[in-house]
Amino acid sequence: MAWDFSTEPEFQQQLDWMRDFVREEIWPIETVFEDLGQEGFERAIAPLKEQVKERGLWAAHLPPDLGGQGFGQVKLGLMHEISGSSAFAPSVFGNQAPDSGNSEVLAMAGTEDQKEQYLYPLLAGDLRSAFSMTEPENAGSDPTLLETTAELQGDEWVINGHKWFSSNASVADFLIVMAVTDPEAHKYQRASMLLVPADTPGVTIVRDIPTMEHPYEHFGRIGGHSEILYEDVRVPKDALLGARGAGFLIAQQRLGPGRIHHCMRWLGVSRRAFDMLCERSLTRYSHGSLLSEKQTVQNWIADSAAQMQAARLMTLHAAWKMDTEGASAARQEIALIKFYGASVMHDVVDRALQIHGSLGYSTDLPLEAMYRFARAARLYDGPDEVHRQSVARQILRGYEAPADGVPSEHVPTRREAARERFADLLEAVTAND
Ligand SMILES: Cc1cc2nc3c(=O)[nH]c(=O)nc-3n(C[C@H](O)[C@H](O)[C@H](O)COP(=O)(O)OP(=O)(O)OC[C@H]3O[C@@H](n4cnc5c(N)ncnc54)[C@H](O)[C@@H]3O)c2cc1C
Repeated sequence: MAWDFSTEPEFQQQLDWMRDFVREEIWPIETVFEDLGQEGFERAIAPLKEQVKERGLWAAHLPPDLGGQGFGQVKLGLMHEISGSSAFAPSVFGNQAPDSGNSEVLAMAGTEDQKEQYLYPLLAGDLRSAFSMTEPENAGSDPTLLETTAELQGDEWVINGHKWFSSNASVADFLIVMAVTDPEAHKYQRASMLLVPADTPGVTIVRDIPTMEHPYEHFGRIGGHSEILYEDVRVPKDALLGARGAGFLIAQQRLGPGRIHHCMRWLGVSRRAFDMLCERSLTRYSHGSLLSEKQTVQNWIADSAAQMQAARLMTLHAAWKMDTEGASAARQEIALIKFYGASVMHDVVDRALQIHGSLGYSTDLPLEAMYRFARAARLYDGPDEVHRQSVARQILRGYEAPADGVPSEHVPTRREAARERFADLLEAVTAND
């Protein structure tokens, strides 16, 4: 009977170190990020990355032969729960999105040359990457509709298309582009992935799209979401990543781990907001008592704690399933936690913001930024509705409609059957009367 929620003492020590390190060394950078700019930020985190490497915690998501730690998803989940508390911490630990998911794609589908050129420098933190799939003209929730094309002309692929929301593309050295290479093939075999250096002629990073999270136009900063034009972009034939037509297959394999990494980071955001909620309840006085003594606030605390615990267990369980049975086997668990985890983060941040009143709404606290961040989680890597649909479909495969259309729990029908089955007993009992 293997059923164990404990953490190895040595790894717990690492987690304890991480908790202090993230709070003491990384949280302060958040408050001066705008003044530092991208270059200053890189300089600020460079010595921190070294400390993480010395500690043996760098790029924990990849196996040791690829320069990672080979920790697996459960340990990574426990780490992300801490590093997710700050948008900047995953960069310091070498597993920030989208680089973490992209490095897994390269590890899984890349040739040895592609690994040399892209994966190892990506892991060393010398390159940045972006994943370029979503298009403004087509529903990103149904990527079989994508229209960007890559046509093989002689020894080169020629790419044409329009993408947007390619995260980090304006600071990326290379892009993984999803494009239709085989328009006549089955809808799940039409697209392929291609490796495109960001400075290839014909690639125009039009802008970083102002969003709810970053409402003001800026360009060339980590965390931006870029609109990109690909106009007769030529890359060599061997820029194909994985097999021709395997784009969706690889995307599925990439998105599984990528999604769960997001869910793990959200636990960190939720925890930080929850701590703020509890702290404020103990200091703010109104209508004759501290807020901590109001039942509504107590409900918020209890409900948040319950939701966070549920999300944590669901996330770690999905991670465990991935570690033990692989990403495909954990599809349902990942889809469940993707939409549930997003809603928990949203609810906890919302309550923490509410208890702080106008202070919560102001930029004097990080809650309003967390709130804007939390909203996007219901959209990226597939909107809630698509994950719910996928979960429901998988669950329904385990059911079938009763042949006669009568619900199998229909009490009069069951009673009739039971009366037949227990006829002798019923008769004896009645006779005694
Ligand atoms: C912060 C952020 C970062 C992102 N990063 C990247 C990135 O790095 N690379 C990249 O390629 N893309 C990225 N995206 C894009 C993201 O993956 C898409 O926004 C997402 O897949 C949804 O596609 P869409 O925006 O075209 O919405 P649509 O596909 O147009 O969907 C709109 C809405 O329709 C509804 N809907 C869709 N399908 C169904 C259904 N089956 N049942 C019921 N309702 C449905 C949902 O409410 C959905 O929100 C990012 C997006 C955000 C917000």
